[in-house]
Amino acid sequence: MQTPTIYRDLGISDEVASVCESVLAGLRDRFFEIDRVAEYNQAKVLLAMKKNRVDAACLTGTTGYGHDDKGRDTLERVWADVFHTEAALVRPHLTCGTHALAVALSANLLPGDELLSPVGKPYDTLEEVIGIRPSPCSLAENGVSYRQVDLTPDGGFDYPAIAAAINERTKLVTIQRSKGYQMRPTFSVKQIGELIAFVKAQKPGLTVMVDNCYGEFTEEIEPSDVGADMVVGSLIKNPGGGMAPIGGYIAGSNACVQRCHYRLTAPGVGQDVGASISVMRDLYQGFFLSPTVTASALKGAVFAAKLYESLGFRVVPDSTESRHDIIQSIELGSPEAMVAFAEGIQAAAPVDSYVAPVPSPIPGYADEVVMAAGAFVQGSSIELSADGPIRPPYAIYFQGGLTFPHAKLGVMYSLQKLYEKGLVTLDEKTL
Ligand SMILES: *Cc1c(COP(=O)(O)O)cnc(C)c1O
Repeated sequence: MQTPTIYRDLGISDEVASVCESVLAGLRDRFFEIDRVAEYNQAKVLLAMKKNRVDAACLTGTTGYGHDDKGRDTLERVWADVFHTEAALVRPHLTCGTHALAVALSANLLPGDELLSPVGKPYDTLEEVIGIRPSPCSLAENGVSYRQVDLTPDGGFDYPAIAAAINERTKLVTIQRSKGYQMRPTFSVKQIGELIAFVKAQKPGLTVMVDNCYGEFTEEIEPSDVGADMVVGSLIKNPGGGMAPIGGYIAGSNACVQRCHYRLTAPGVGQDVGASISVMRDLYQGFFLSPTVTASALKGAVFAAKLYESLGFRVVPDSTESRHDIIQSIELGSPEAMVAFAEGIQAAAPVDSYVAPVPSPIPGYADEVVMAAGAFVQGSSIELSADGPIRPPYAIYFQGGLTFPHAKLGVMYSLQKLYEKGLVTLDEKTL
């Protein structure tokens, strides 16, 4: 067998390789289930592409105003069908997930309205969007107030406090599906559906937005299947399939998405402008590949969980829990271990493998962040990557992998770096 030799060529020691192989042997059933979900989602995407008669003309782009851009308009119909929504906005003009979320929020909140997060603190970059940390053009600056209800200590929804927080100003409820940079659990679509039903029962007419980042295609249903009025995310995560070079999406009701089009372009102009230049083929192909790419990332996450849990680290989720996003957090306990882990992921990158990750400030984040990413699409986190703010409990967030073999190699490299620096011992028990 050639495998051990190629591992040695890559600089992975026999001890590390053998621990990894024994961990992997126990995961076959788990992987089978992940593949089953991928097959279902592949069929869902194919069905939408067939129904909307995607053809070669859709793959070319437009310039200038982009009037009558068939590819762009058809792509938005495909997305709306996959998410079972009336409408979708899917464009390269949404520069990232934060931008898509900011558009969705600012389009649907007016001065005097209140935004409620019933799931605790939102993702770091949204703090400035909302105005939790003051920023020009924040919702707060535009007269939109914000209220937050924290999760219960066991990570559940605090229903009495949520009911008490909903008032006559409450207009929009934002629910973040993925844990982001926190150690709380990620919510299943079913749990999100229960929360949506609860808040809408308190106040019919509330708009519910779900930050769906990292969650797409990890389950057979999406939050839009359980009552969300808008689901929002980034194309340089799951639904870009590693192919999309830029973009974000908002899928939801006509009423909400129409306003987002006006916010993104201009009132009165809306969805009819926005040249797609030359990205259409990548957006279609990436969406088509996304179910299996997401499955590869999920397998990598489960493998990392099982490996690090068997070495005694706290991991969220653990290797047996059901998965609702592609993020794996591993509490490494020290800045040194976070950096070593990131060095391993970086060393496994197809691009920039020789670069050393160093903790540094990142716009939109309050703490220094260490990031490992050597991606074909800059900063892409559906590609193999790891990052985390340098703050206790020193948890690294690992995600991505366009193929499972690559995700596996990345995880092996991370352990190799920790092992070389004496930050883990591979004792008799684990060997
Ligand atoms: C990544 C992420 C965002 C922001 O997306 P960017 O593309 O990085 O701007 C927002 N919310 C969650 C939960 C995320 O994971």
